[in-house]
Amino acid sequence: MSFIYNQSLKTLNTFGIEASAQRFSRCGSIEELVSILDEWKKKKDNLLILGGGSNILFTKDFEGTVLKNELMGIEVVKENENHIWVKAGAGEVWHDLVMYCVKNNFAGIENMALIPGCVGAAPMQNIGAYGVELKDVFESLDALKIEDNSICNFDLEACEFGYRESVFKRKYKNQYIILSVVLKLSKKPEFKTSYGTIQQQLKENGIQNLSIQAIADAVIQIRRSKLPDPVEIGNAGSFFKNPEITNEKFYSLKENFPDIVGYPVGDLHTKLAAGWLIEKAGWKGKTFENFGVHKHQALVLVNYGGAKGEEIYALSGQIIEAIRQKFGVELEREVNIY
Ligand code: FAD
Ligand code: NAP
Repeated sequence: MSFIYNQSLKTLNTFGIEASAQRFSRCGSIEELVSILDEWKKKKDNLLILGGGSNILFTKDFEGTVLKNELMGIEVVKENENHIWVKAGAGEVWHDLVMYCVKNNFAGIENMALIPGCVGAAPMQNIGAYGVELKDVFESLDALKIEDNSICNFDLEACEFGYRESVFKRKYKNQYIILSVVLKLSKKPEFKTSYGTIQQQLKENGIQNLSIQAIADAVIQIRRSKLPDPVEIGNAGSFFKNPEITNEKFYSLKENFPDIVGYPVGDLHTKLAAGWLIEKAGWKGKTFENFGVHKHQALVLVNYGGAKGEEIYALSGQIIEAIRQKFGVELEREVNIY
């Protein structure tokens, strides 16, 4: 085990921000991870566990140790007549896991095709897309407790999943390294096509007999047409969460903004489409030299090349303030800021 000093992180974050890590290492096994952590504990500087870097904005160089998680492996660990349990290492690419499941006809995560990043980060914010969240198929995960190197198993309840939330983002922030995740997938698919434009895309594709492959293909096509590919334009997906407000507040906003987009959350709350708010406030497509708000998707902030993380962070602050002023709604950043 050895550290690399002053490692550039530019190709390790999808925003493509030039930042460096004071110390950097990769780990491909639990033994390697433990040995790196033992070495790290002698200094105990800041520690960042890095997956695909697709939910991160570096606003400065990282003063501390960055550890790139490369724990691999996908295996079936259990099955019965209706279900199959698949375990994946934290360093596996999430989309590769989705494609493995689709190919083997294990249903449940096809709506989450093409979400960038690694399996180990998926529970961090309970990733979700097109009406499905990780928690819907989640069985358990193993995580290493940084304090004493013990391996702990977390079930669904212990993860305290919420909308783009988990116990690892809150109560246990910076305390655990996720090693592997087990998903409970279905042998008898329940197709979820009511969300967004999936049905329209399936129709355009001439699909007569629905399959999880057809859904994954439709989701991939929609995402490719709407979202900037980080390989071409630096971004970290949705920069903000969709805010939840009371129904009362929603109806009062609707009086002034009749076309406001909201979806019910339980009986008392409404989830607003943050993208709609940002667009309505005039920010969609706004460009400042080499960064800005994406022209097709107002929720996505972009780096056209060479932008600084602090500039993008400042832009996000301006947007939060503009939304507060115009709608009296508080936007919260979804992207992790370092
Ligand atoms: P990173 O960015 O590397 O890390 C994110 C956070 O998790 C960091 O705080 C990091 O320290 C922590 N972390 C990572 N791995 C571990 C680990 N093993 N143990 C402990 N902590 C860890 N998200 C969605 O939910 N739905 C979407 O549809 C979606 N679409 C996106 C589209 C685009 C184009 C992009 C660029 C991003 C999108 N995202 C989406 C956001 C992002 O892809 C997800 O949040 C993804 O899970 C991040 O994975 P990552 O490996 O890149 O995490
Ligand atoms: P969209 O389909 O244009 O919809 C806009 C917003 O409305 C979405 O954020 C979604 O909320 C919500 N929505 C749409 N239909 C809904 C329904 N039937 N019930 C409840 N809420 C509904 O969104 P998009 O930007 O193209 O994204 C499509 C999907 O991919 C969404 O699920 C989105 O979360 C996901 N995505 C996430 C990221 C990220 O970085 N987090 C990036 C790109 C796409 P939800 O976000 O709560 O689903």
